[in-house]
Amino acid sequence: MKGKTSQEVILTGIGTSPGICIGKAYLVDKEGVETVKRYTIDKDSLSAEVGRFKTAVNKAEDDLHQIMDAMPEDFRQHARILETHVLLLRDKTIYDRAIELIEKERINAEWALKKVTSEVRPVFEKMDSEYLRQRAEDITHVADRIMEHLVGGDHVDIARINKRVILVAKELSPGETSQIQLERIKGFVTNRGGRTSHTGIIARTLEVPAVLGVENATQKIKNDDIIIVDGKAGTVVINPSEQSLLAAEERRELEDNRKAMMARTSAIPAITRDGKQISIMGNIELGEEVVALRDHGGDGIGLYRTEFQYLSRSCFPDENTLFENYKEVIDVMNPRPVTIRTLDVNGDKAISYLMDEVNPTLGLRAIRDDMDEVNPALGLRAIRYCLRKPEVFQTQLRAILRAAVHGDVRILLPMISCLEELEEAITHINMAAKTLKQRNVPHKRDIPVGIMIEVPSAAITADILAKKADFFSIGTNDLIQYTLAIDRGNQNVAHLYQPLHPAILRLVHTTCKAAKANGITTQMCGEMAADPLCAPVLLGLGIDGLSMHPQAIPEVKQAIRSIDTTQLDAFVAELMQMPSASAVLGLLSHHFGDLVAEHGAESRPFP
Ligand code: PEP
Ligand code: MG
Repeated sequence: MKGKTSQEVILTGIGTSPGICIGKAYLVDKEGVETVKRYTIDKDSLSAEVGRFKTAVNKAEDDLHQIMDAMPEDFRQHARILETHVLLLRDKTIYDRAIELIEKERINAEWALKKVTSEVRPVFEKMDSEYLRQRAEDITHVADRIMEHLVGGDHVDIARINKRVILVAKELSPGETSQIQLERIKGFVTNRGGRTSHTGIIARTLEVPAVLGVENATQKIKNDDIIIVDGKAGTVVINPSEQSLLAAEERRELEDNRKAMMARTSAIPAITRDGKQISIMGNIELGEEVVALRDHGGDGIGLYRTEFQYLSRSCFPDENTLFENYKEVIDVMNPRPVTIRTLDVNGDKAISYLMDEVNPTLGLRAIRDDMDEVNPALGLRAIRYCLRKPEVFQTQLRAILRAAVHGDVRILLPMISCLEELEEAITHINMAAKTLKQRNVPHKRDIPVGIMIEVPSAAITADILAKKADFFSIGTNDLIQYTLAIDRGNQNVAHLYQPLHPAILRLVHTTCKAAKANGITTQMCGEMAADPLCAPVLLGLGIDGLSMHPQAIPEVKQAIRSIDTTQLDAFVAELMQMPSASAVLGLLSHHFGDLVAEHGAESRPFP
């Protein structure tokens, strides 16, 4: 198309890892694998065909082991994802079924594998849980890896890329993502994937800008196209105009300057203008995030979401594995506090093997059993699951009590909705301590046991719960979901997800007052805590400390340093009269104009 200048095109996807990068697209083409043909195998060659399939599986397994062996130490956590892939290679739903098809239908190994994948993938894709839907990706990664050895193709060899590019692929496996070299790959864009995919988690760990789930990105973006990737806005601009390039450069520079400034100030404590120190802690999902948390100036860990150790595997972790994981985190943070939340599974974080401990692999039966819940967000989630599965709960509690010997550890119980649940959980903690005592294993029982306030009934009865809990931590992600009846993952109702809704502010206020009256503290660890604009509201309502994703810490600390808490009582009196979230925003503009000017609507990373 000589003479025709390329038009700027803007694609949108899911901004998975913040940051802006500009560069040439490097398209990873895996099309060859998808054009396999079917042919019939004669009877005498069947065992050779099965042999060819088994050899391809063996080679795929060798690949995975090689990648794991070459992984740097700080990527050990991600090796688990690849261990899951190794297990999946031989899972009966893939391995046995493919061999069965070759033998029974006398078809070539490529076709058998393609058929198996097309049978298994939809089962996962139709599942309600986003986590399990993402597992369909794992099946594809594993099948692709076997297929490439069958057709003699090459897996994406990220390590071989020798220029500074932005990777564009249908999807990247965790194995591929973990090979990314920061000096080569500026960012990446994929057709599939989302925030909770392992690839998304790794991108955030690496701090590489990434936009996932961009429909047909690999068709719309051509090799060597200049593209802009904005991992916060979730946009990809193809063939940007001069104006867009300048604007992106400016935003990147501003972002870099802001980050540098924040890095310089992150260690300064969050002390309000009238001299009150507010503890600002971090939320982590994976052990390796702990270093970023410390570097961003976190005073401790306010929420360690332990479920990710269960999600990235194919069977329950044992007590020692959990103990080692917790101890590693505690050692880095020591003497700062580490709040370990007990398993919060189901809801949107289902685990395939949960309901069927005897089945250690991703067998379909176990998954179907698990999916029996019609409404998982209101089902056997978090503490409800743990109380129903005492052996799973006991294993985790023993690991926590053992790790507690090594630092300042607190236990946080998720989704408590009534006093009985809290009492039963405390009985379990005592039981775990008793077992360890009988076994003569070093442990510490005398540690604070707090509860998440994330179900409206807990906030309303906070005065009752405060008599038994050692501290509260408000989980606004769920508190908003359950109070406003807004599915936190549903885009259609995302506009109704309002942290400043008067109902939420009243529940926060009720909780803080009940805590104070009973001499305990209230933290907040939901995403609302990460919004600098909410800081005056939360301090005014009586929150004692905040915990958030590490990257948000410096900005929230800075916001707190601009607040004078002696003026908050009058502000709260007005706040509690506001009839709507937008009226609250108006009041904030009136009293905290500078904060509102600095942190407009887009600074709110609500789920
Ligand atoms: C919350 O609900 O606010 C919370 C922090 O827990 P999670 O996001 O893990 O459900
Ligand atoms: Mg929650």
